[in-house]
Amino acid sequence: MEVLSNIPIKFSFEEISKYLRINDKMQANQRELIKELIDLSANLINPKAVYKIAFVENKTDITLDIGKVQFKSKVLRKNLDKLERVFPYIITVGKKLEDKASSMKDLLKQYYLERIADLALDHIQRYLETHLKRKYKLGQISTMSPGSLEDWPITQQKELFSIFGDSQKIIGVSLTNSFLMIPKKSVSGIYFPTEIKFHSCQLCPRKGCIERKAPYDPKLAEKY
Ligand code: SF4
Repeated sequence: MEVLSNIPIKFSFEEISKYLRINDKMQANQRELIKELIDLSANLINPKAVYKIAFVENKTDITLDIGKVQFKSKVLRKNLDKLERVFPYIITVGKKLEDKASSMKDLLKQYYLERIADLALDHIQRYLETHLKRKYKLGQISTMSPGSLEDWPITQQKELFSIFGDSQKIIGVSLTNSFLMIPKKSVSGIYFPTEIKFHSCQLCPRKGCIERKAPYDPKLAEKY
Protein backbone atom coordinates (compact mmCIF):
# COMPACT_ATOMS: atom_id res chain seq x y z
CA MET A 1 0.00 0.00 0.00
CA GLU A 2 1.26 3.47 -0.82
CA VAL A 3 -0.09 6.80 0.42
CA LEU A 4 0.57 9.90 -1.70
CA SER A 5 0.24 13.18 0.13
CA ASN A 6 2.56 15.68 -1.53
CA ILE A 7 0.27 16.12 -4.50
CA PRO A 8 0.76 19.51 -6.15
CA ILE A 9 -2.56 21.21 -6.99
CA LYS A 10 -2.35 24.53 -8.75
CA PHE A 11 -5.18 26.06 -10.77
CA SER A 12 -4.81 28.80 -13.29
CA PHE A 13 -7.48 31.50 -13.53
CA GLU A 14 -8.25 30.34 -17.10
CA GLU A 15 -8.66 26.69 -16.08
CA ILE A 16 -11.10 27.51 -13.29
CA SER A 17 -13.08 29.94 -15.46
CA LYS A 18 -13.44 27.29 -18.15
CA TYR A 19 -14.43 24.63 -15.62
CA LEU A 20 -17.03 26.94 -14.11
CA ARG A 21 -18.24 27.75 -17.63
CA ILE A 22 -17.69 31.45 -17.22
CA ASN A 23 -17.00 33.15 -20.54
CA ASP A 24 -14.28 35.68 -21.45
CA LYS A 25 -16.67 38.59 -21.17
CA MET A 26 -17.10 38.20 -17.41
CA GLN A 27 -17.59 41.34 -15.35
CA ALA A 28 -14.71 42.75 -13.30
CA ASN A 29 -16.48 41.80 -10.06
CA GLN A 30 -16.90 38.20 -11.25
CA ARG A 31 -13.22 38.12 -12.12
CA GLU A 32 -12.37 39.33 -8.60
CA LEU A 33 -14.64 36.71 -7.07
CA ILE A 34 -12.92 33.88 -8.96
CA LYS A 35 -9.50 35.14 -7.89
CA GLU A 36 -10.67 35.41 -4.30
CA LEU A 37 -11.97 31.83 -4.34
CA ILE A 38 -8.79 30.47 -5.94
CA ASP A 39 -6.76 32.05 -3.12
CA LEU A 40 -9.19 30.84 -0.49
CA SER A 41 -9.25 27.25 -1.74
CA ALA A 42 -5.45 27.02 -2.03
CA ASN A 43 -5.11 26.74 1.75
CA LEU A 44 -8.08 24.43 2.20
CA ILE A 45 -7.25 21.62 -0.22
CA ASN A 46 -5.51 18.69 1.45
CA PRO A 47 -5.00 16.25 -1.42
CA LYS A 48 -4.31 12.61 -0.59
CA ALA A 49 -4.37 9.30 -2.42
CA VAL A 50 -3.91 5.73 -1.31
CA TYR A 51 -3.69 2.67 -3.53
CA LYS A 52 -2.77 -0.97 -3.28
CA ILE A 53 -1.60 -3.60 -5.74
CA ALA A 54 -4.24 -6.34 -5.68
CA PHE A 55 -4.49 -9.64 -7.49
CA VAL A 56 -7.55 -10.85 -9.37
CA GLU A 57 -8.60 -14.41 -8.61
CA ASN A 58 -11.53 -16.85 -8.56
CA LYS A 59 -13.39 -15.45 -11.57
CA THR A 60 -16.93 -16.77 -12.14
CA ASP A 61 -19.54 -15.46 -14.60
CA ILE A 62 -20.33 -12.36 -12.57
CA THR A 63 -18.04 -12.40 -9.53
CA LEU A 64 -14.32 -12.12 -8.95
CA ASP A 65 -11.97 -11.71 -6.01
CA ILE A 66 -9.74 -8.65 -5.85
CA GLY A 67 -7.21 -8.57 -3.04
CA LYS A 68 -9.02 -11.61 -1.53
CA VAL A 69 -12.33 -9.71 -1.41
CA GLN A 70 -15.27 -10.81 -3.55
CA PHE A 71 -16.94 -8.29 -5.91
CA LYS A 72 -20.06 -8.79 -8.01
CA SER A 73 -20.35 -6.90 -11.31
CA LYS A 74 -20.67 -8.17 -14.86
CA VAL A 75 -18.98 -5.06 -16.27
CA LEU A 76 -16.04 -5.21 -13.85
CA ARG A 77 -15.71 -8.95 -14.45
CA LYS A 78 -15.60 -8.39 -18.23
CA ASN A 79 -13.13 -5.51 -17.98
CA LEU A 80 -10.75 -7.55 -15.82
CA ASP A 81 -11.18 -10.74 -17.84
CA LYS A 82 -7.53 -11.10 -18.86
CA LEU A 83 -5.95 -9.26 -15.93
CA GLU A 84 -4.20 -10.55 -12.86
CA ARG A 85 -3.12 -7.30 -11.21
CA VAL A 86 -5.18 -4.15 -10.54
CA PHE A 87 -4.99 -1.05 -8.31
CA PRO A 88 -7.81 -0.28 -5.85
CA TYR A 89 -7.60 3.33 -4.65
CA ILE A 90 -9.17 6.13 -2.62
CA ILE A 91 -8.48 9.82 -3.25
CA THR A 92 -9.70 12.88 -1.39
CA VAL A 93 -9.56 16.66 -1.33
CA GLY A 94 -9.97 16.59 2.47
CA LYS A 95 -12.70 18.12 4.60
CA LYS A 96 -11.70 21.76 4.96
CA LEU A 97 -12.80 22.98 1.54
CA GLU A 98 -16.24 21.37 1.67
CA ASP A 99 -16.76 22.66 5.22
CA LYS A 100 -15.90 26.15 4.01
CA ALA A 101 -18.29 25.79 1.07
CA SER A 102 -21.14 24.66 3.36
CA SER A 103 -20.52 27.62 5.69
CA MET A 104 -20.96 30.14 2.85
CA LYS A 105 -24.22 32.09 2.99
CA ASP A 106 -23.70 33.29 -0.59
CA LEU A 107 -25.00 30.41 -2.71
CA LEU A 108 -22.93 31.35 -5.76
CA LYS A 109 -19.71 31.26 -3.72
CA GLN A 110 -20.81 27.96 -2.22
CA TYR A 111 -21.41 26.50 -5.67
CA TYR A 112 -18.09 27.76 -7.04
CA LEU A 113 -16.16 26.33 -4.07
CA GLU A 114 -17.88 22.97 -4.52
CA ARG A 115 -16.90 22.94 -8.19
CA ILE A 116 -13.31 23.94 -7.35
CA ALA A 117 -13.22 20.91 -5.02
CA ASP A 118 -14.44 18.74 -7.94
CA LEU A 119 -11.70 20.14 -10.14
CA ALA A 120 -9.12 19.41 -7.42
CA LEU A 121 -10.39 15.82 -7.35
CA ASP A 122 -9.82 15.62 -11.12
CA HIS A 123 -6.24 16.82 -10.59
CA ILE A 124 -5.62 14.21 -7.88
CA GLN A 125 -7.10 11.50 -10.09
CA ARG A 126 -4.79 12.49 -12.97
CA TYR A 127 -1.80 12.64 -10.61
CA LEU A 128 -2.50 9.12 -9.35
CA GLU A 129 -3.02 7.85 -12.90
CA THR A 130 0.34 9.27 -14.01
CA HIS A 131 2.03 7.88 -10.88
CA LEU A 132 0.71 4.36 -11.52
CA LYS A 133 1.63 4.45 -15.22
CA ARG A 134 5.18 5.58 -14.46
CA LYS A 135 5.85 3.37 -11.47
CA TYR A 136 4.41 0.16 -12.93
CA LYS A 137 5.26 0.88 -16.58
CA LEU A 138 1.64 0.67 -17.67
CA GLY A 139 0.24 1.86 -20.99
CA GLN A 140 -3.34 3.00 -20.90
CA ILE A 141 -5.34 2.55 -17.69
CA SER A 142 -9.03 2.96 -16.89
CA THR A 143 -11.03 3.08 -13.69
CA MET A 144 -14.37 1.90 -12.36
CA SER A 145 -16.09 2.95 -9.14
CA PRO A 146 -18.81 1.19 -7.12
CA GLY A 147 -22.09 3.02 -7.60
CA SER A 148 -21.24 4.48 -11.00
CA LEU A 149 -23.39 1.85 -12.75
CA GLU A 150 -26.45 -0.12 -11.71
CA ASP A 151 -24.41 -3.24 -12.42
CA TRP A 152 -21.92 -2.37 -9.66
CA PRO A 153 -23.93 -0.94 -6.76
CA ILE A 154 -22.63 1.52 -4.21
CA THR A 155 -23.04 -1.12 -1.47
CA GLN A 156 -19.80 -2.63 -2.80
CA GLN A 157 -17.96 0.36 -1.37
CA LYS A 158 -17.88 -1.73 1.80
CA GLU A 159 -15.86 -4.46 0.05
CA LEU A 160 -13.60 -1.93 -1.66
CA PHE A 161 -12.83 -0.12 1.60
CA SER A 162 -12.18 -3.43 3.37
CA ILE A 163 -9.13 -3.89 1.11
CA PHE A 164 -7.53 -0.91 2.87
CA GLY A 165 -8.45 -1.60 6.51
CA ASP A 166 -8.68 1.59 8.56
CA SER A 167 -9.14 4.11 5.73
CA GLN A 168 -9.99 6.87 8.19
CA LYS A 169 -6.60 6.51 9.81
CA ILE A 170 -4.75 6.04 6.53
CA ILE A 171 -6.24 8.85 4.45
CA GLY A 172 -9.04 10.47 6.49
CA VAL A 173 -11.91 8.96 4.47
CA SER A 174 -14.70 6.86 5.95
CA LEU A 175 -18.04 5.43 4.81
CA THR A 176 -21.50 6.29 6.11
CA ASN A 177 -24.10 3.57 6.70
CA SER A 178 -25.39 4.31 3.21
CA PHE A 179 -21.89 3.81 1.74
CA LEU A 180 -21.26 7.47 0.91
CA MET A 181 -17.79 8.80 1.56
CA ILE A 182 -16.88 11.41 4.17
CA PRO A 183 -15.40 13.83 3.09
CA LYS A 184 -17.83 13.73 0.18
CA LYS A 185 -15.21 15.23 -2.16
CA SER A 186 -13.50 11.84 -2.38
CA VAL A 187 -13.44 9.13 -5.05
CA SER A 188 -12.80 5.41 -4.71
CA GLY A 189 -12.39 2.81 -7.39
CA ILE A 190 -10.16 0.33 -9.13
CA TYR A 191 -7.61 1.22 -11.80
CA PHE A 192 -6.83 -1.45 -14.37
CA PRO A 193 -4.70 -1.63 -17.52
CA THR A 194 -6.70 -1.57 -20.73
CA GLU A 195 -6.06 -1.37 -24.45
CA ILE A 196 -9.07 0.84 -25.15
CA LYS A 197 -9.94 3.54 -22.63
CA PHE A 198 -13.08 2.62 -20.70
CA HIS A 199 -15.42 5.09 -18.98
CA SER A 200 -18.48 3.92 -17.05
CA CYS A 201 -20.24 6.95 -18.60
CA GLN A 202 -20.20 5.09 -21.95
CA LEU A 203 -22.69 2.63 -20.44
CA CYS A 204 -24.76 5.22 -18.57
CA PRO A 205 -27.73 6.82 -20.40
CA ARG A 206 -28.31 9.54 -17.77
CA LYS A 207 -29.06 12.86 -19.43
CA GLY A 208 -27.73 16.25 -18.31
CA CYS A 209 -24.98 14.92 -16.02
CA ILE A 210 -22.33 17.65 -15.61
CA GLU A 211 -19.74 15.03 -14.61
CA ARG A 212 -20.08 13.02 -17.83
CA LYS A 213 -16.63 12.04 -19.15
CA ALA A 214 -17.62 10.19 -22.33
CA PRO A 215 -20.74 10.03 -24.52
CA TYR A 216 -23.27 7.25 -23.95
CA ASP A 217 -22.55 4.37 -26.35
CA PRO A 218 -25.65 2.14 -26.65
CA LYS A 219 -23.81 -0.41 -28.83
CA LEU A 220 -21.06 -0.84 -26.24
CA ALA A 221 -23.68 -0.99 -23.47
CA GLU A 222 -25.34 -3.86 -25.34
CA LYS A 223 -22.04 -5.78 -25.54
CA TYR A 224 -21.77 -5.72 -21.76
S1 SF4 B 1 -22.81 10.06 -16.94
FE1 SF4 B 1 -22.73 10.91 -14.86
S2 SF4 B 1 -23.98 9.49 -13.62
FE2 SF4 B 1 -23.47 8.43 -15.52
S3 SF4 B 1 -21.60 7.28 -15.03
FE3 SF4 B 1 -20.96 9.26 -15.94
S4 SF4 B 1 -20.63 10.59 -14.18
FE4 SF4 B 1 -21.82 8.84 -13.43
